[in-house]
Amino acid sequence: VDPADVLDLFRRHGALLEGHFRLSSGLHAGQYLQCAVVLQHPAAAAALGSALAARIAAVRPSVVISPALGGIIIGHEVARALGSRFLFAERQDGVLSLRRGFVVEAGERAVVVEDVLTTGTSTRETMQIVRAARGEVGAVGAIIDRRVAGADLGVRFESLARVELPTWEPSACPLCQAGLPVVKPGSRPGGDG
Ligand SMILES: [Zn+2]
Repeated sequence: VDPADVLDLFRRHGALLEGHFRLSSGLHAGQYLQCAVVLQHPAAAAALGSALAARIAAVRPSVVISPALGGIIIGHEVARALGSRFLFAERQDGVLSLRRGFVVEAGERAVVVEDVLTTGTSTRETMQIVRAARGEVGAVGAIIDRRVAGADLGVRFESLARVELPTWEPSACPLCQAGLPVVKPGSRPGGDG
Protein backbone atom coordinates (compact mmCIF):
# COMPACT_ATOMS: atom_id res chain seq x y z
CA VAL A 1 0.00 0.00 0.00
CA ASP A 2 1.34 3.41 -0.96
CA PRO A 3 1.51 5.92 1.95
CA ALA A 4 -0.45 8.41 -0.17
CA ASP A 5 -3.23 5.84 -0.58
CA VAL A 6 -3.38 5.35 3.20
CA LEU A 7 -3.74 9.07 3.82
CA ASP A 8 -6.26 9.34 1.02
CA LEU A 9 -8.29 6.63 2.76
CA PHE A 10 -8.27 8.72 5.95
CA ARG A 11 -9.32 11.87 4.09
CA ARG A 12 -12.09 10.13 2.19
CA HIS A 13 -13.53 8.82 5.48
CA GLY A 14 -13.32 12.21 7.20
CA ALA A 15 -10.82 10.79 9.70
CA LEU A 16 -8.53 13.83 9.71
CA LEU A 17 -10.09 16.21 12.25
CA GLU A 18 -9.36 19.95 12.65
CA GLY A 19 -9.60 21.71 16.02
CA HIS A 20 -7.65 22.00 19.28
CA PHE A 21 -6.85 18.65 20.79
CA ARG A 22 -5.19 17.32 23.91
CA LEU A 23 -3.51 14.07 22.88
CA SER A 24 -3.11 11.12 25.25
CA SER A 25 0.57 12.08 25.43
CA GLY A 26 -0.42 15.43 26.99
CA LEU A 27 0.71 17.36 23.91
CA HIS A 28 -1.68 19.71 22.09
CA ALA A 29 -2.40 19.62 18.35
CA GLY A 30 -4.53 21.39 15.75
CA GLN A 31 -5.27 18.26 13.77
CA TYR A 32 -6.10 14.74 14.80
CA LEU A 33 -6.19 11.47 12.90
CA GLN A 34 -9.21 9.57 14.16
CA CYS A 35 -8.32 6.02 13.16
CA ALA A 36 -11.60 4.63 14.49
CA VAL A 37 -13.44 6.56 11.78
CA VAL A 38 -11.62 4.51 9.14
CA LEU A 39 -11.56 1.27 11.13
CA GLN A 40 -15.35 1.31 11.56
CA HIS A 41 -15.37 -0.07 8.02
CA PRO A 42 -14.27 -3.71 8.28
CA ALA A 43 -13.13 -3.83 4.67
CA ALA A 44 -10.82 -0.86 5.24
CA ALA A 45 -9.57 -2.38 8.49
CA ALA A 46 -8.83 -5.67 6.75
CA ALA A 47 -6.98 -3.92 3.91
CA LEU A 48 -4.84 -1.92 6.33
CA GLY A 49 -4.23 -5.01 8.47
CA SER A 50 -3.11 -7.06 5.48
CA ALA A 51 -0.78 -4.31 4.31
CA LEU A 52 0.79 -3.95 7.74
CA ALA A 53 1.05 -7.73 8.14
CA ALA A 54 2.96 -7.95 4.86
CA ARG A 55 5.59 -5.60 6.26
CA ILE A 56 6.17 -7.61 9.41
CA ALA A 57 5.53 -11.16 8.18
CA ALA A 58 9.27 -11.89 7.97
CA VAL A 59 9.45 -11.58 11.77
CA ARG A 60 7.18 -14.66 11.95
CA PRO A 61 5.44 -13.78 15.21
CA SER A 62 3.18 -16.32 16.89
CA VAL A 63 1.22 -13.57 18.62
CA VAL A 64 0.19 -9.98 17.95
CA ILE A 65 -0.46 -7.84 21.01
CA SER A 66 -2.03 -4.37 21.08
CA PRO A 67 -2.83 -1.84 23.78
CA ALA A 68 -6.60 -1.25 24.22
CA LEU A 69 -8.60 0.38 22.87
CA GLY A 70 -6.92 2.05 19.92
CA GLY A 71 -4.85 -0.92 18.79
CA ILE A 72 -7.47 -3.65 19.05
CA ILE A 73 -9.10 -3.57 15.62
CA ILE A 74 -5.94 -3.13 13.59
CA GLY A 75 -4.02 -5.60 15.76
CA HIS A 76 -6.73 -8.19 15.22
CA GLU A 77 -6.64 -7.66 11.46
CA VAL A 78 -2.84 -7.95 11.37
CA ALA A 79 -3.07 -11.20 13.36
CA ARG A 80 -5.73 -12.54 11.02
CA ALA A 81 -3.50 -11.84 8.01
CA LEU A 82 -0.47 -13.42 9.72
CA GLY A 83 -2.39 -16.42 11.02
CA SER A 84 -1.24 -15.68 14.58
CA ARG A 85 -3.00 -15.25 17.91
CA PHE A 86 -4.15 -11.83 19.00
CA LEU A 87 -4.05 -10.42 22.54
CA PHE A 88 -4.81 -6.99 23.90
CA ALA A 89 -3.47 -5.30 27.00
CA GLU A 90 -5.71 -3.01 29.00
CA ARG A 91 -5.15 -0.36 31.58
CA GLN A 92 -6.29 -0.89 35.16
CA ASP A 93 -5.38 1.54 37.92
CA GLY A 94 -3.05 3.20 35.42
CA VAL A 95 -1.10 0.04 34.63
CA LEU A 96 -1.27 -1.73 31.28
CA SER A 97 -1.55 -5.50 31.73
CA LEU A 98 -2.92 -8.70 30.21
CA ARG A 99 -6.23 -9.83 31.66
CA ARG A 100 -8.98 -12.29 30.64
CA GLY A 101 -6.62 -15.26 30.77
CA PHE A 102 -4.36 -13.87 28.04
CA VAL A 103 -0.80 -15.23 28.29
CA VAL A 104 2.44 -14.63 26.40
CA GLU A 105 4.52 -17.80 26.66
CA ALA A 106 8.22 -17.75 27.52
CA GLY A 107 10.24 -17.68 24.30
CA GLU A 108 7.25 -16.64 22.22
CA ARG A 109 7.87 -14.03 19.51
CA ALA A 110 5.41 -11.17 19.54
CA VAL A 111 4.69 -8.13 17.42
CA VAL A 112 3.16 -5.06 19.05
CA VAL A 113 0.62 -3.30 16.82
CA GLU A 114 -0.83 0.19 17.34
CA ASP A 115 -3.13 2.40 15.30
CA VAL A 116 -0.96 5.52 15.63
CA LEU A 117 2.51 5.71 17.14
CA THR A 118 3.29 9.12 18.68
CA THR A 119 5.35 9.11 21.88
CA GLY A 120 5.42 5.31 22.02
CA THR A 121 4.51 5.23 25.71
CA SER A 122 1.76 2.60 25.41
CA THR A 123 3.89 0.69 22.93
CA ARG A 124 6.82 0.51 25.32
CA GLU A 125 4.53 -0.61 28.13
CA THR A 126 3.16 -3.36 25.89
CA MET A 127 6.69 -4.41 24.91
CA GLN A 128 7.50 -4.63 28.62
CA ILE A 129 4.56 -6.98 29.18
CA VAL A 130 5.99 -9.32 26.53
CA ARG A 131 9.49 -9.17 27.97
CA ALA A 132 8.28 -9.64 31.55
CA ALA A 133 6.76 -12.92 30.32
CA ARG A 134 10.19 -13.77 28.80
CA GLY A 135 8.79 -13.37 25.32
CA GLU A 136 10.56 -11.59 22.48
CA VAL A 137 9.38 -8.41 20.73
CA GLY A 138 10.19 -9.02 17.06
CA ALA A 139 8.83 -5.73 15.75
CA VAL A 140 6.38 -2.91 16.31
CA GLY A 141 3.82 -1.95 13.65
CA ALA A 142 1.43 0.99 13.31
CA ILE A 143 -0.90 2.25 10.62
CA ILE A 144 0.36 5.79 11.09
CA ASP A 145 3.85 6.85 12.15
CA ARG A 146 3.63 10.17 14.02
CA ARG A 147 6.70 9.53 16.13
CA VAL A 148 8.01 12.49 18.06
CA ALA A 149 11.68 13.00 18.87
CA GLY A 150 12.87 10.48 21.42
CA ALA A 151 10.28 7.88 20.48
CA ASP A 152 12.87 5.33 19.36
CA LEU A 153 11.66 1.87 20.40
CA GLY A 154 14.88 -0.07 19.97
CA VAL A 155 13.24 -2.69 17.73
CA ARG A 156 12.23 -2.91 14.09
CA PHE A 157 9.36 -0.52 13.34
CA GLU A 158 7.02 -0.65 10.35
CA SER A 159 4.18 1.68 9.43
CA LEU A 160 1.98 2.33 6.41
CA ALA A 161 2.41 6.11 6.34
CA ARG A 162 4.46 8.79 8.03
CA VAL A 163 2.41 11.83 8.99
CA GLU A 164 3.86 15.11 10.21
CA LEU A 165 1.29 17.07 12.20
CA PRO A 166 2.57 19.80 14.53
CA THR A 167 2.19 19.21 18.26
CA TRP A 168 3.10 21.47 21.16
CA GLU A 169 3.63 21.37 24.87
CA PRO A 170 0.58 23.07 26.43
CA SER A 171 2.77 25.95 27.61
CA ALA A 172 3.89 26.60 24.02
CA CYS A 173 0.56 25.90 22.26
CA PRO A 174 -0.54 28.74 19.95
CA LEU A 175 -4.15 27.55 20.10
CA CYS A 176 -4.12 27.85 23.90
CA GLN A 177 -2.62 31.31 23.53
CA ALA A 178 -5.48 32.18 21.15
CA GLY A 179 -7.94 31.15 23.87
CA LEU A 180 -9.49 28.23 22.00
CA PRO A 181 -10.96 25.54 24.27
CA VAL A 182 -9.03 22.28 24.13
CA VAL A 183 -10.82 18.95 23.78
CA LYS A 184 -9.74 15.34 24.14
CA PRO A 185 -10.11 13.71 20.71
CA GLY A 186 -13.15 11.48 20.57
CA SER A 187 -14.59 12.90 23.78
CA ARG A 188 -17.57 14.29 21.93
CA PRO A 189 -20.47 12.01 20.98
CA GLY A 190 -19.49 10.00 17.94
CA GLY A 191 -15.85 9.82 18.96
CA ASP A 192 -14.07 6.80 20.34
CA GLY A 193 -13.55 8.16 23.85
ZN1 LIG B 1 -3.38 24.08 23.31
